[in-house]
Amino acid sequence: MCGIVAYLGDKDAYPILINGLKRLEYRGYDSAGVALLNGGDLTIFKCQGKVSDLEAHVNGRSTKGSVGMGHTRWATHGPPNDVNAHPHQSTSGDLALIHNGIIENYAPIKAELSQRGHTFRSETDTEVLVHLIDDIQRTEGVDLPEAVRLALESVVGAYAIVVMDRKSPDLLVAARKSSPLVIGIGENEHFLASDATPIVEHTKNVVYLEDGEMAVIDRHSGLKIRNVKNQDKTPFIHELEMHLEALEKGGYDHFMLKEIHEQPRSVRDSMRGRLNLAKGEVMLGGVKDYEQKLVNAKRILILGCGTSWHAGLVGEYLFEDLARIPVEVEYASEFRYRNPIVNEDDIVIAISQSGETADTLAAIELAKGRGATIIGICNVVGSSIARVTHAGSYTHAGPEIGVASTKAFTAQVTVLTLMALMIGQKKGTIGGSNFHRLLNELEAIPDKVQKVLQTEAQIRYIADIYKDATNALYLGRGYSFPVALEGALKLKEIRLHPCGRIPRRRDEAWSYRLDR
Ligand code: GLU
Repeated sequence: MCGIVAYLGDKDAYPILINGLKRLEYRGYDSAGVALLNGGDLTIFKCQGKVSDLEAHVNGRSTKGSVGMGHTRWATHGPPNDVNAHPHQSTSGDLALIHNGIIENYAPIKAELSQRGHTFRSETDTEVLVHLIDDIQRTEGVDLPEAVRLALESVVGAYAIVVMDRKSPDLLVAARKSSPLVIGIGENEHFLASDATPIVEHTKNVVYLEDGEMAVIDRHSGLKIRNVKNQDKTPFIHELEMHLEALEKGGYDHFMLKEIHEQPRSVRDSMRGRLNLAKGEVMLGGVKDYEQKLVNAKRILILGCGTSWHAGLVGEYLFEDLARIPVEVEYASEFRYRNPIVNEDDIVIAISQSGETADTLAAIELAKGRGATIIGICNVVGSSIARVTHAGSYTHAGPEIGVASTKAFTAQVTVLTLMALMIGQKKGTIGGSNFHRLLNELEAIPDKVQKVLQTEAQIRYIADIYKDATNALYLGRGYSFPVALEGALKLKEIRLHPCGRIPRRRDEAWSYRLDR
């Protein structure tokens, strides 16, 4: 998963795109590129390496244009090199396209287009799509949005794309399927990005494109959204709650350290307005309408991947202990490919930091299709999981940029604790005095975390001794068992460069991120 950013407005697009790509660097990538439209002139710059390499490559050349798009690539088809970097162009050179995701049926489409005279420069699956759109435009005589729509009808896979056409210099066409895209709406300007981080400094008004939807942004007629079946959709404008300062490093050496130190605040924010010591109650507004269903649940299924799965394991202990409900915790990527038994009176709790985890989304759809009630726990307001679940609670951890999760995990555990306490109290499975004791202990946690962080010198001393170890054994029983698993995952992510579950490319991006 890497990055897309695009702009159409009155300003110079290039600095906005470069800045936006830098905001998306945390997602990991191997090459970067931009395309700029200035009237009928289409200019493309792209190269392997970092966004700063792209800037050096562009240096001194004209970057005129108030329409443009930028991309950071995480190679899936063809090695990371200058030619495979996006944007890709049609044979005529009229169209340029950027893509995040995978076109699964690119090979037969490529073979057919080659027979029809198209020549391919790169080894990517993406390039096939731009040739296909070009081919449809010519043979069907349709405009760009319609050609994109028809092309997507023949494509199998996951994508977020943006397309530009030098014959239509005031137009951007975008579409998404299983790969997020957010549209920012400013004064006489529009932005597109893989997530809101490049947009927040320009506007707080955003529209989240849904799966199977296309956005047509025209300088004169503004934004139109339609689905791939050609039905018009009314854009629903969300207001971003993200603040720019939350995306900066705030004086810390790297994001992960900053996020570790943010935990007293993030845990407190996750409890804010939900824990009322005076009244002796827990209130989770987002699941209020489903409170009785939770209390009556015969079984809870918790779905997640990686860190969220570990938080789910803590949740299992909490729900069993405090609410006396049987819980099964499932790896979403396994669950979605089985034929799992899901009943209509099951409660499914889906956990994801970003709210965009593709496997968790697919697992939710499966469970929803079988009639279960789905409760989401995620960090990103308005994200896909927040939208597809019946109800849910945000974690309010703030943006987590470090891929090795810290504050998102503790915020997830906080929300799960509140949920278990709420159900336990309503169900009568926690005695009154025990309930009050637990509420008080929970309330005291942010201060305790603060105290732990004050021991940073000791932590650094210990870390220095063990930092070059090639193996480590994490032990834990009870609630500490999932925490030990999560600790071991962190160590793998940061030190050991695992080649197994976590792809190598991804942990290269991590080590880069930690070195910054
Ligand atoms: N599959 C495309 C490629 O390998 C896009 C990868 C991405 O998501 O950046 O170029």
